[in-house]
Amino acid sequence: MRSAEPVVIVGAAMAGLRTAEQLRTGGWDGPIIVIGDEPHLPYNRPPLSKEALSLSAERPIGEWHDTVAFRLRPSVSDVHWRLGRTVVAADLTARTVKLDDGEALGWSGLAVASGLRPRRLPADWPTQGRVALRTLDDAIALRAGLRPGVRVVIVGAGFIGCEVAASARRLGCEVTVVEPLDAPLVRGLGNEVGTAVRRYHERSGIRFRMGRGVVGLASEGERVAGVRLDDGEELPADLVLEAIGAVPNVEWLEGNGLDLGDGVLCDASLRVEGRSGVVAAGDVARYPNARYAIGAQRIEHWSNPTDTAKRAASTLLADIDGAPPTSTPFAPLPSFWSDQGDLRLQSFGSTCIADAATVVDGRLDPLDDGAVVEYTLGSELVGVLLINQPPKTFRAHRARVDAAYLSIDGRNPR
Ligand SMILES: Cc1cc2nc3c(=O)[nH]c(=O)nc-3n(C[C@H](O)[C@H](O)[C@H](O)COP(=O)(O)OP(=O)(O)OC[C@H]3O[C@@H](n4cnc5c(N)ncnc54)[C@H](O)[C@@H]3O)c2cc1C
Repeated sequence: MRSAEPVVIVGAAMAGLRTAEQLRTGGWDGPIIVIGDEPHLPYNRPPLSKEALSLSAERPIGEWHDTVAFRLRPSVSDVHWRLGRTVVAADLTARTVKLDDGEALGWSGLAVASGLRPRRLPADWPTQGRVALRTLDDAIALRAGLRPGVRVVIVGAGFIGCEVAASARRLGCEVTVVEPLDAPLVRGLGNEVGTAVRRYHERSGIRFRMGRGVVGLASEGERVAGVRLDDGEELPADLVLEAIGAVPNVEWLEGNGLDLGDGVLCDASLRVEGRSGVVAAGDVARYPNARYAIGAQRIEHWSNPTDTAKRAASTLLADIDGAPPTSTPFAPLPSFWSDQGDLRLQSFGSTCIADAATVVDGRLDPLDDGAVVEYTLGSELVGVLLINQPPKTFRAHRARVDAAYLSIDGRNPR
């Protein structure tokens, strides 16, 4: 299948790479151009908050990249990578994208894979000594500051906040985590598990300030010296990690009449709503999962770029061909893992839509002894969390969640 115009993919990270691979798998032998504003070929982000932080910051960036880079399969060896280039605008009617150097590129198909960037504390607060973590360059900058005895304040007790807290503590830092909610990871895993995670980290010396907000930063010159909390406490800080969530990179799509309210709204085939030949994949895509009657959602987990790229590429090729997309409902089973010190959390299904969590094996205290927690919505099993469980058990738990969820209305959506 070939067209004079290329398929253009915006975002040269996991979703961009997987989309390119799936286009080739689906039979597209025309040109593929992947445009990415980072200077690197696609790499894996999860190690950046975990094992990569044990690398020396002095290592050359190429060596850092080698440790996390995705393998480029032969099928994508002829992809044109335009790295260090930002797409600043798209015209979905004229079928063009415009780059930051003024160049305009035409396309027969467009894949939106532009992902997320970290949400930040106010820009007019002191800037030196503040870091966020999304990219390889961010990780190297963070690592440079993680020296023994350094006072690190982490704002946000989500997955990235907790993972970095554990990594920083192992490097000998004094770590305090500030979070406005009652427990770490509470949105995804609930209060009971979140509290157990907090207790686990406290045993290694990490301090928590739960139910507290950050109202300002103290400084010496431009350099951060402390974090001011809403109860009047000031935490001394040499380094502040802002781990307060992420924002979809969608500004380049403005002006096309799209719903960009939270990522880019897609239909059930990953086609950007109402736009033939335009699809989205990865963290930036907001789409309905036939498994959940809760409307379109974005997912920010590692399994998502692969799941969505497969369907997005298939839809894109059908659109280019003038054929209808596959009618098989799109119903991927979400999953994620998180490594925090000696804790390995592995989840299948959607724990965040549950209304109850029950420990069915092991116990939450001490958490590193291991446990299995089932998440239910009404009487239905919707997710399972495995804490320090052997990988050989994963398949059976995954299958149970998969099968159990499909029984909700007695219908298999696949
Ligand atoms: C530190 C960290 C740790 C994580 N750990 C885990 C984990 O343990 N388990 C788990 O399940 N998930 C984890 N995740 C989540 C997982 O890595 C993401 O879901 C995945 O990387 C998303 O990939 P993506 O390609 O959709 O988006 P992104 O990785 O955000 O990639 C989008 C790319 O597009 C580029 N871009 C944006 N706008 C433009 C533009 N206009 N022009 C050109 N390029 C553009 C961006 O710079 C970026 O390179 C982690 C994420 C991070 C950041």
